[in-house]
Amino acid sequence: MSSINTVLDAIETKKFSGTIAPEAIHEAVSGYTAGDVPDYQMSALLMAIFINGMNYDETLALTKAMAESGDTYSFPECVDKHSTGGVGDKISLISLPIAAACGAPVAKLSGRGLGTTGGTIDKLEAIPGFSVDLSRNRFERQVADVGLAIIEAGELAPADKEIYALRDTTGTVDSLPLIGSSIVSKKAATGAGHLLYDVKCGAGAFMKTLEDARELADLLVRLSESLNVRASAIITDMDNPLGRAIGNALEVRESVQFLKGEQVPQDLADEARLVAVHLLRLKGIPEPEQAVEDALSSGAAYEKLSEFVTAQGGDADALENLPTASEVHDVKAPGDGYVERFGALGVGRAALTLGAGREKKNDTLDYAAGVEVLVKVGDEVSRGQTIARLHGTRNVQRAENLVLEELSLSNEPVQLAPAILDTR
Ligand code: URA
Repeated sequence: MSSINTVLDAIETKKFSGTIAPEAIHEAVSGYTAGDVPDYQMSALLMAIFINGMNYDETLALTKAMAESGDTYSFPECVDKHSTGGVGDKISLISLPIAAACGAPVAKLSGRGLGTTGGTIDKLEAIPGFSVDLSRNRFERQVADVGLAIIEAGELAPADKEIYALRDTTGTVDSLPLIGSSIVSKKAATGAGHLLYDVKCGAGAFMKTLEDARELADLLVRLSESLNVRASAIITDMDNPLGRAIGNALEVRESVQFLKGEQVPQDLADEARLVAVHLLRLKGIPEPEQAVEDALSSGAAYEKLSEFVTAQGGDADALENLPTASEVHDVKAPGDGYVERFGALGVGRAALTLGAGREKKNDTLDYAAGVEVLVKVGDEVSRGQTIARLHGTRNVQRAENLVLEELSLSNEPVQLAPAILDTR
């Protein structure tokens, strides 16, 4: 039977909530990637899946088919983490050098940001000279020698890339089995043997409720374990931006501050430590909490970051000398009160509009651009106090409006919600 007929059968089956055989899922994915299955047919199948769901075996078959659609790597000894995407999320820049300094090697294939969600590659490229363009050989050697290497994901799981682009234009992104298989297919192709998922939950995230975030976290862990990857998950808040900095160079600077023992907001410090501890736990390193504290207080984690930056062509001294914006604009509080909401989504959009992110794939970034949030939920502010700092020269007025729209003040004291919502 041709791929087209297989997909037609699969559509008929899923239309009536039936179960699609793993072989048919495999054929649909490979047929689509090869260009034999047209967009309209794949769209119909995705919509049927969106409406009627997939059982676990179907989801696993889809994950495997996408993972095997291109190059695959294998780093069974390595740890990796994956965040479902958030505003100000620089946890990889902090927790991975800590893990590597504690003896858990990291081989990371990462992506660039799109929309309000930043990408680790963009942040690293804010460091002058830093390159993510390593040959496979050099990448593998650096993992062995330095214990930490990060390159661009490139052609990993190409089927996911194509299917994701189709989902994006057919209203089929927000389906649990499609999200789960999409994420795990890329991670399985990356090949790390120990994987931590950081599932973001809240207004600035894919998963808006704790219940949905838990469901996704459990699916990610289960799919990974089925593919012989040791996995666990944490669920963290994304109603609020993480830490103070949003924007590439600003986020590297804040990460360096933390690794050098300087003060950063509590949500960032807590989450960075938690992620590092979980990575060590997955790897079976004894007394992980103590190991993390030792790596931080001894300076070993910062040294690991410097070693990694140098190995990838960056000047480690540049970590103290990152690009800065030629213009910085202070945003003032419009009244007195306690911060009730200072939402991630609007602040992320403000950073994006200043040039820290891409609205479209080929937009150019301004590495120095972004937003610093100077107050957090629960803080008391007075009229005229600087609540945020905008870095950059593009669309400053629009960015200020976006930031102010995200701020609400209350006359009553406000309790800060926890940043870490659950672990699985
Ligand atoms: N991130 C992914 O990689 N895939 C999805 O489907 C959603 C978020």
